[in-house]
Amino acid sequence: DGEVAAALSWTASRPGDVFREALVPLTLLGFGVAVLLFAVVAGFLHWLARDLAAAERRSQDLLGRDPLSGLANRLIFGERLDREFAVMSRRGTGLAVHFIDLDRFKDVNDTHGHKAGDDLIQLVAERLTRLVRSNDTIARFGGDEFAIIQTGIRARDDAADLARRVLEALGQPFEVAHSQVLIGASIGIALAPDHGDSREILMGLADTALYKAKSEGRNRFVFFQP
Ligand code: GH3
Ligand code: MG
Repeated sequence: DGEVAAALSWTASRPGDVFREALVPLTLLGFGVAVLLFAVVAGFLHWLARDLAAAERRSQDLLGRDPLSGLANRLIFGERLDREFAVMSRRGTGLAVHFIDLDRFKDVNDTHGHKAGDDLIQLVAERLTRLVRSNDTIARFGGDEFAIIQTGIRARDDAADLARRVLEALGQPFEVAHSQVLIGASIGIALAPDHGDSREILMGLADTALYKAKSEGRNRFVFFQP
């Protein structure tokens, strides 16, 4: 009887049990895939955000700064000049715009190579930076062209003094490509408010004066003459 009873008895399973047991691994797998996908998407978004931030920083740098010398570029120079004009009358002092172009710079590239030329541009930027006051602005416009906004000018001689010191500093030998290199510079100067009081006019006049310094024999500074 016992044997018969054992043979005829079984544990009943509920109707959904088999289905549920089959579903558990599938659910776990789905959950795992979802977590993985979420991690991948989150990682990608994080990388994208960092990449965008770096690109934004780079473009801001490029907008404002000359990559080779680290100086302001023409855009920032113009904006600073506008700002200086705005406060100039309140201060009761003038300003000078110096346009500086190195003399025979191409010879350095041709003789010592473009890399030496680049090194020289960086050394010129360092020397110029040491000459000006913290309120002043130095820029590199590209090539071998630099510019200074000299603020707090009380007399024309203040601008002449700085130009003389620039010529003196840039006239000292530079060490590039294991050689001593001698260059000079030509400087054109325009004064505000004497010669004008707008960015376009003053930069145009400084450029004209620079052209004159070059044509008069280089290695000199020339004030714009109306
Ligand atoms: P000048 O006395 O009339 O000023 O003549 P220069 O030889 O100095 O030549 P110029 O000012 O007319 O031109 C500047 C040269 O600088 C032109 C180009 O060969 C070179 N140059 C421009 N940009 C760069 C640069 O980023 N790096 C280097 N190494 N050379 C540059
Ligand atoms: Mg030059």
